[in-house]
Amino acid sequence: MRTLTFKGGTHPPHSKKATENLAIERANEPKVVVIPMQQHIGAPCDPIVQIGDEVKVGQKIGEAKGFVSVPVHSSVSGKVVAVEPRLYSGGMAVPCVVIESDMQNTVSAEVTPKGDLSKLSAEDVKNIIKEAGIVGMGGATFPTHVKLAPPPDKKVDTVILNGAECEPYLTSDHRLMLEYPDDVVFGLQALMKALGVKKGYIGIETNKPDAIEKVYEAAKGIEGIEVVALKTKYPQGAEKQLIFACTKREVPSGGLPADAGVVVNNVGTAAAVAQAIKTGMPLIERIVTITGAGVNNPKNLLVKIGTSFREVIDQCGGLKGNIGKIIAGGPMMGITQFSLDIPAIKGTSGILVLSEEEARLPEPSNCIRCGKCVETCPINLMPVNISACSLANKHEQAEALNAMDCIECGSCSFVCPAKRPLVDSIRVSKREILARRKKAQSK
Ligand code: SF4
Ligand code: SF4
Repeated sequence: MRTLTFKGGTHPPHSKKATENLAIERANEPKVVVIPMQQHIGAPCDPIVQIGDEVKVGQKIGEAKGFVSVPVHSSVSGKVVAVEPRLYSGGMAVPCVVIESDMQNTVSAEVTPKGDLSKLSAEDVKNIIKEAGIVGMGGATFPTHVKLAPPPDKKVDTVILNGAECEPYLTSDHRLMLEYPDDVVFGLQALMKALGVKKGYIGIETNKPDAIEKVYEAAKGIEGIEVVALKTKYPQGAEKQLIFACTKREVPSGGLPADAGVVVNNVGTAAAVAQAIKTGMPLIERIVTITGAGVNNPKNLLVKIGTSFREVIDQCGGLKGNIGKIIAGGPMMGITQFSLDIPAIKGTSGILVLSEEEARLPEPSNCIRCGKCVETCPINLMPVNISACSLANKHEQAEALNAMDCIECGSCSFVCPAKRPLVDSIRVSKREILARRKKAQSK
């Protein structure tokens, strides 16, 4: 098997030992779920239930608004007790449906198997994926059906499944590939059918040899599907880096994977597609890695969407010692949380609890012009220069240095010996540039 990679990148400690060998366990049934109507990139859903309504597992409770949006479903059976804004892991309050579970898990009559994949048309598959509320489960939460409808001038011929899981600490994709390899492969076949393409790759980092073996066995003999070993390097799972590693094609600056003829999905997304076709169950639960020095018993749990971080951490023996930081996702690209009373959503791949010592940030010092950030940037940017423009409020100059191409992987900050706030400052410039573009468009 070939081992593939990309230029640049870095090698943060894997920190996966605590959970990589732990089988997925089903989390306890939550007594209450808080289900956000905004769990995806795009327009939020409109709630279609009211206080007092009885709902069942898999029942649609939020209707998608517009093309770049997906419906939201109930993860429990029970009674709606509130429809109101609540805080979610994106850092703001969004409309949520709050449901008290009756602990019966009664499944909605809407949930029925969708039949044999070979008899479904490409349109059927796209509709099943859309109606099941499936989004990118690696954390990006982009609606999957939108990726399956590239503009007619983009000739897509390849689907890549991302099984790199290059973020330190996280092992949810690793366990998924070990325990449900057939679903991963079935999901890839469905995605290939939806796009009408004949070539599919499943890319897995070499630090997961057992997953490579399992998925390889599951895909053996299936025409057009190739399992490839990827060098263990961060950010191997970023779209552009994955596309280059598998196909040697480059996505142009400002372009999309479809510009290189490729659609990329996470292995978790493929497994969700498989479930939506095989059982008809929409996306109502996901595997979450709960880990870090601040958790007593780290685990990989299958968690119902809407379960609070607090409840999930309690099932892992609760918090341990002095807590420095709680992150939704991994340490490189995750989002810091200021409360445990927020719900797990479709994009929650991990809950990472760092101790005070792990989370302590060294004071930044002056740049020593070592060039390590430039050498490491997988996009070939000049992080030191973009950051300097951002800190001087010169966002137009940051734009000219292609700040918008930054994928916010954090590699530059990680390697910087002076601990300069590189990715944070570049993020500020990106936000400013976007705001200016939006303002210019509205004139
Ligand atoms: S500039 Fe952006 S893309 Fe480049 S290393 Fe830094 S965070 Fe990653
Ligand atoms: S890595 Fe840090 S110290 Fe080195 S050039 Fe970049 S910003 Fe300066």
